Amino acid sequence: MALHDQSLAYVRAISPYQPGKPITQLAREMGLAVEQIVKLASNENPLGMSPKARLAIEAALSDLARYPDDFDLKAALAAHTGADRSCLVLGNGSNDVLDLVARVFLGPGRSAIFAQYAFAVYPLATLSAGAKAIVVPAKEYGHDLSAMRSAIRSDTRMIWIANPNNPTGTFLPHPELKAFLEDVPDEVVVVLDEAYNDYLPPEQRYDALTWLKEHPNLVITRTFSKIYGLAGLRIGYAVTSPTIADLMNRIRQPFNCNNLALAAAAAALDDEEFVTRSYALNRDGMAQICGGLTQLACRYIPSSGNFVTFQVANAVDVNAQLLRQGVIIRPLAGYSLPDWLRVTIGTANENHRFLAALEAALSNDERK
Ligand SMILES: *Cc1c(COP(=O)(O)O)cnc(C)c1O
Repeated sequence: MALHDQSLAYVRAISPYQPGKPITQLAREMGLAVEQIVKLASNENPLGMSPKARLAIEAALSDLARYPDDFDLKAALAAHTGADRSCLVLGNGSNDVLDLVARVFLGPGRSAIFAQYAFAVYPLATLSAGAKAIVVPAKEYGHDLSAMRSAIRSDTRMIWIANPNNPTGTFLPHPELKAFLEDVPDEVVVVLDEAYNDYLPPEQRYDALTWLKEHPNLVITRTFSKIYGLAGLRIGYAVTSPTIADLMNRIRQPFNCNNLALAAAAAALDDEEFVTRSYALNRDGMAQICGGLTQLACRYIPSSGNFVTFQVANAVDVNAQLLRQGVIIRPLAGYSLPDWLRVTIGTANENHRFLAALEAALSNDERK
């Protein structure tokens, strides 16, 4: 294991990310047809992508011999966010942007704070930069902002917050977030990950972009992977102060976002009808799934995202039984939530398939 020993100790200490099981893999394992499988494991958009994005991709195919030009997407994002283009950083998925900000501010001898049950990429980005992770115990499965404030040490350079959070779906009302920002020292970067913001009901909506002027240490990240339905293309962005954007852009690979992703994202931004339809489908599906979980006497964490996390007596067994019925959801043992499972809101049909499979699994489970 000489090579292994030559690697950086902080890289060896990282536990691998566990992605949702791909449909094709389950089909191979269970001898099922791909069409029989329902995947509600990775918070993807059940409607697929916007038709406008598809047309833009088709049109962009003829230019793939050329290196990408991000001018048009940045212009579209500047119009969409009201931010100057000097405040924008594009990423190969928003995970790329999270990694960029970590590499700008974190390294050995520095620490970053995130909440217990926060998104798995925060420990990944923190540890792969060689920094120390400070994990603050959750409050009712969500962020405990006052404990997170108290956890700041002299070597702390960053705080990660997902709002809504994945995998718990918990939400921080904006007055709490704003008060937190006021309270955090200016030299500590606050990353506010808004991957699921488009799913917020009207009464929870807020606009963190308006806080940037007063708080240049704020980095807001967003993605095209969720409501815009472009998870497979890998495109996301950050809006932050020109100072931080400039630093992030220095270490960004020059062509980190590909032509198809750039074209699709610009077109998707322009398709409000698709976003509205996706939002409504999610709202209705959330009611359907939460209603079903209640009927099955499963406790769940109220969610502001496009997924819901629920508790069962034997998550390993229930998950295995769902897989045998061709339903893929996400076990959360990797998040230290061994009794919990996370299901993405699908179409009405997919939600029905999931609930029926869960009902069968639970009644089987009781008989043992
Ligand atoms: C899904 C998700 C993202 C999006 O990641 P991409 O790299 O843009 O696909 C970011 N943050 C959280 C909390 C998520 O759940």
